[in-house]
Amino acid sequence: MKTAYINGKIYTVNEKQPYAEAVVTEGNKIIFVGSNEAAQKFIDGSTKVIDLDGKLMLPGFNDSHLHFISGGNYLLGIDLRPAKSKEEFVNILKGYVAIRKDSLINLNRWITGGRWDHEQWQDKSLPAKELIDSVTGNIPVIISRIDGHMGLANSRALELAGITKGTPDPDGGLIVRDFKTGEPTGILKDNAMNLVFNIIPPPSLEENVEDALRAIEEANKLGITSVQDMTQPGELGAYRQIEKEKKLTCRINSIYPINHYEELVKAGITAGGDELLIRRGALKGYADGSLGASTAWFLEYYAQDTTTFGLPNDIVTNGNLEKWALDADQDHLQICVHAIGDRANAFMLDLNEKIKNENPEWDRRFRIEHAQHLRETDIPRFSKIGVIASVQPYHCIDDGVWAEKRIGPERIHLTHVYKSLLENNVKVAFGTDFPVAPLNPLFGIYAAVTRRTVDGKNPDGWIPEQKISVEDAIKCYTFNPAYASFDEQIKGSIEVGKLADLVVLSDNILTIDPVKIKDAIVEMTVFNGEIVYKRN
Ligand SMILES: [Zn+2]
Repeated sequence: MKTAYINGKIYTVNEKQPYAEAVVTEGNKIIFVGSNEAAQKFIDGSTKVIDLDGKLMLPGFNDSHLHFISGGNYLLGIDLRPAKSKEEFVNILKGYVAIRKDSLINLNRWITGGRWDHEQWQDKSLPAKELIDSVTGNIPVIISRIDGHMGLANSRALELAGITKGTPDPDGGLIVRDFKTGEPTGILKDNAMNLVFNIIPPPSLEENVEDALRAIEEANKLGITSVQDMTQPGELGAYRQIEKEKKLTCRINSIYPINHYEELVKAGITAGGDELLIRRGALKGYADGSLGASTAWFLEYYAQDTTTFGLPNDIVTNGNLEKWALDADQDHLQICVHAIGDRANAFMLDLNEKIKNENPEWDRRFRIEHAQHLRETDIPRFSKIGVIASVQPYHCIDDGVWAEKRIGPERIHLTHVYKSLLENNVKVAFGTDFPVAPLNPLFGIYAAVTRRTVDGKNPDGWIPEQKISVEDAIKCYTFNPAYASFDEQIKGSIEVGKLADLVVLSDNILTIDPVKIKDAIVEMTVFNGEIVYKRN
């Protein structure tokens, strides 16, 4: 079965033929890229012809770093932000239960999510369990306030957690109680929320499948045809199940916790490989924490707290990371390590260099996940050692609001340095860390191109010298992520012989005002030669 996409503005991300008008696919492959006229030779009576009507077509997006199943779980959770009163709060919950009742009951699921904000309501008093019990019945509920510092549990959840009048407040937490009766109201603050969260059973295979399917649906809607997933043990089965049911419309490069690397070695898995749907062979470790928690590991003290440099991860200090990485690299597994602070990045570059010098040569492709704050002299080392920078541009426009407070005005110039990395020939691969940041690739491209922080305070860009071109940003969301998963021969650009993973956008993001890139939407997503999403 052939499909011809004609009359398009096709940006291929192939330097030899950057633009085209038409693409023809057969089965799951691209068989022609070129002009409308030349495409005619490939079109016969049985070819499906799709008129792109001048719209921009790109290679399908590839998110280089996310947590897909927890992201799907996040999307399935209730969103109570629109509630502007207690009545609306209850109504949204009622509607949610009506839609999801079967799966909630059949799979024994909890209602989670929330993001409610009673400060938005006319009656600013906190909600209580009685408000929701009649709507939720026996389905346990714990829904968080927008700031995550308190949650509302229903009676069923309190019962399952064994929280009663007699339960003492845990350290760092508060069980809010009725001032007359002393009964818990359902509101749990800070650590008291964990009394409930800790008893939610680990997700079953069926729950993971439901979450993953929701994530896949959202990915396709956003033009994403490949993801690189920080897979937790127990999650892989869900992808396999979905693959078996032929519903896997997104390629998964599964990146597995490094402390489990021997499982992969025993199974004979190596990086690269030829599986087109679910790929393994990459490992994820941690070198430090996060900037938000002041645990990102720096060479110098934090600006707002001159008693700390941040914290290396345990596996850095106890030597396990070095041991595992040296060993796994010999088995041709790919080492991907989370490093945020400049010291964590320097540590990883040193370790990667050591591995390169000590272990036999192979087509290894180290990755540093986040690579957020870098020492100037470390920037060229990425390409010298062969380290991919797997970064999340959306973080630069949300963390950009407060990052300077943490690290001061000097180091801030060495933060999210996409331009400098690209100028030093570093392979920069974009992703989101979804659900930490929104999944939409166009937000990421917008962020990298404009660097306008989400608070609106930097209309010309935060650290504007690090803004990159739209073309580069597209490449960082397509070709470079394919390289990062050893797939640049089969995807990441629109070329004859490559997989037919394509996206059509509402607007030509190469020519519109970059500020509007975030408002562009996906018209159509093609995965493996088939249309998996089309806007109504
Ligand atoms: Zn992550």
